[in-house]
Parts: sequence; C-alpha cells; structure tokens
Amino acid sequence: MIQCAYMSTIFEQIIAGDIPANKIYEDGQTFAFLDANPVNPGHTLVIPKEPYKNIETVPEDLLTAVMQTVKFLAPQIQTAVKADGFNIHENNGTVAGQVVPHLHFHIIPRFEGDDFEHWHGAEDYHDGKAGEEIAARISRSL
Ligand code: 5GP
Repeated sequence: MIQCAYMSTIFEQIIAGDIPANKIYEDGQTFAFLDANPVNPGHTLVIPKEPYKNIETVPEDLLTAVMQTVKFLAPQIQTAVKADGFNIHENNGTVAGQVVPHLHFHIIPRFEGDDFEHWHGAEDYHDGKAGEEIAARISRSL
C-alpha cells in the first residue's frame, strides 16, 4: 500500500508563489505575509520556510530566527498602520484554534477602541491553593 507521508499546507504554496499573498518580508529562513482575514489592518503571519507543524517540533535555532523576524517586523508594522500597540499570538494545536498546521505567529496591530478582546480568566489564583497545586504539578513534570 502506498502511503502519503506528507501533505503540503497552504503556507508552503504561498512561499512557493503558487498561491498569491501580500508578502511583506522574506529572508533565508523566514517569510511574512498579510493574513487573508485580518483582525485589524496590518495583521501579519510570520512563518518558518521549513514546514514544522508547531512550537513543539520546530528546532530551537529556527524558532529563534522566526522570533527575530517577529521582533523586527512588529514595531514597524505598528508604525506603518499607525496602530497603538500589537499582540503576538500563536495557536498551538487544533483545540487552541490552529487551523493551518505550519507554525505561524500572528502579529496583530491594536487600535484604541478596537473590538478584539482578550480572554477572560475562568478562575482566580490570588487566594487559595489552586494555583500552587497546578504550579507544583507542572514543575514536577519538567
Ligand atoms: P491559525 O488559526 O491556524 O492560527 O491561523 C491561520 C490563519 O491563516 C488565519 O488567520 C487565516 O485567516 C489565515 N489564512 C488561511 N488561509 C490563508 C491564505 O490562503 N492566505 C493568507 N494570506 N492567509 C490565510
């Protein structure tokens, strides 16, 4: 039986130029382009050219290169679109909202009064043992 070992993602087709995108930056290891459904003007995706699925699988040196591109671009995007700030966002895994299985960081310019909402905490760790217990469980597993 022939097995299909690998399916390329839409982002690889964008890098290859097979699918059009609004590219804003490229270097040897990374690529950045506008999100096709932006939260705000200037919403940009930064990706490694090599198609690693997520933050768990990407090699550290390549992740460093991606973050250098994020750090380089984010303030310049903010200036270019006259935003008041920005969010850096990465969805890791389907349950976290990752739709495209090719690691990507969202740079989302923020404007005073825009509707993009942060999450709201479901619990309060300021008092009690709940936070201590979770922190201890994580620490033990490191
Ligand atoms: P995720 O939910 O996986 O973190 O984000 C994937 C992002 O990719 C979404 O914000 C979506 O709008 C964007 N996207 C999906 N397909 C395309 C495409 O063909 N072109 C561009 N430029 N962005 C895309």
